[in-house]
Amino acid sequence: MSKKLVIIGGGFAGLRFLYNVRKYMKDELEVTLIDMRKTSLEKPSLPEVALEGKEVSKVQIPFEKIVKKGDVDFINSTVEKIDPEKQTVQLSSGKEVKYDYLLIAAGAVKDYDAMPGFNENAYSVCDDTQAPKLWKKLNSFNGGKIVIGSAKTPWSEETKIPLAAPCEGPIGEIMFMVDHFLRENNLREKSTITVFTPGEIFFEDVGEKVHNDLKPFIEKSGIEVKNNKVIKSIEPDSVKYEDGTEDKSDFTIVIPPYRGPDFVKESGIGDAYGFISTDSEMRHNKYRNIFVAGDINNLSMPKLGHIAILQADVAFSSLSKELKGKGEIEEFKPEIFCIMNRGGSDATLILSDYLFGGKTDKTIKGQIAHLMKWGFDSYYYYTRGHMPPEAVQKRMESLIRA
Ligand SMILES: Cc1cc2nc3c(=O)[nH]c(=O)nc-3n(C[C@H](O)[C@H](O)[C@H](O)COP(=O)(O)OP(=O)(O)OC[C@H]3O[C@@H](n4cnc5c(N)ncnc54)[C@H](O)[C@@H]3O)c2cc1C
Repeated sequence: MSKKLVIIGGGFAGLRFLYNVRKYMKDELEVTLIDMRKTSLEKPSLPEVALEGKEVSKVQIPFEKIVKKGDVDFINSTVEKIDPEKQTVQLSSGKEVKYDYLLIAAGAVKDYDAMPGFNENAYSVCDDTQAPKLWKKLNSFNGGKIVIGSAKTPWSEETKIPLAAPCEGPIGEIMFMVDHFLRENNLREKSTITVFTPGEIFFEDVGEKVHNDLKPFIEKSGIEVKNNKVIKSIEPDSVKYEDGTEDKSDFTIVIPPYRGPDFVKESGIGDAYGFISTDSEMRHNKYRNIFVAGDINNLSMPKLGHIAILQADVAFSSLSKELKGKGEIEEFKPEIFCIMNRGGSDATLILSDYLFGGKTDKTIKGQIAHLMKWGFDSYYYYTRGHMPPEAVQKRMESLIRA
């Protein structure tokens, strides 16, 4: 008899796991996908919505299209609590869903409210409400001081790599794309761009080689970068920092602090900030039939789609071995793989395992990187959340590693 698998969250990790089940284990598992949204949001494309005016519907993949094959039960509701002893998930609709296996892939909450003054005075790119608002503001901007940066995220002791900012790639994209927009609209000479990071160094998660490769672009764009700046409050005309300094600002764009979703604390299965620790198979340390993948996992740092996918694959291989009694459990080998748009047809692809003690620390710059990002985003969108085929990924990687 098939077992009941419940997946919480249809983002990068949840969909990767779902498609693996559909391909390799559809006879062994009966799947329910729960998401509080009606669409899966392709977050890496949000800077294009915010800074290039891409249509927001082009980064939203409706769940009804994802599950239309009829082999998955989709529930559009918010998870409020998990009872790991009774093996149930409680929903805001009042419904209770039973599971034999659970994959928690609910991502991270972007905590805008944790930044005093954000809602009144600042903009962001992290979801499909914020990104279009930013695009509107950018189009009414007539020049002035622009301040861009990340808030500091607090972590528990269980977090293996406590980066001050869990994902600075979007800041890189925003600053270069804002610079490009201003130049295109003859506003660059009337404007300044200041970027701040709460970390010791901007892009804390990559090594010297990548820093050196990015430096000339930052200098050429005339962007000032400040390290060790932790937001205290965002005022109508400035950003105030905890060290007592401030930056005057006419237009403030920030990435908020991250935290885990409320149901984690409510269920007593994670740490004080709502993130969850697992072993290297992505299984919960106490409840072995619970898998955790993506931003919500304490092992995932920086919080990246690529790492969410790697974790989903490891978790899937572990479950597959248990149910089929054969196969190998994949090793979790984290690395940073991301493509940062720099405006127009330029982009920089970063591949680095420096943060995890490795020796790879590379960039590919220019139109080829831009084409790769465009190809990846389009493929992901048009195939409803499928990753590019393994062969394409391998060719891309061999090109980068060459
Ligand atoms: C602006 C921006 C740009 C980025 N660019 C890149 C990039 O270029 N490359 C890259 O690799 N990564 C990038 N990232 C990071 C990447 O988007 C995340 O790491 C990735 O989405 C994490 O995947 P996930 O599956 O863990 O969570 P998510 O993709 O966030 O999915 C979580 C899902 O869970 C659902 N959910 C949450 N709570 C509940 C609940 N209580 N009940 C029901 N459903 C719930 C949500 O609705 C969501 O659909 C970017 C992030 C941002 C914000």
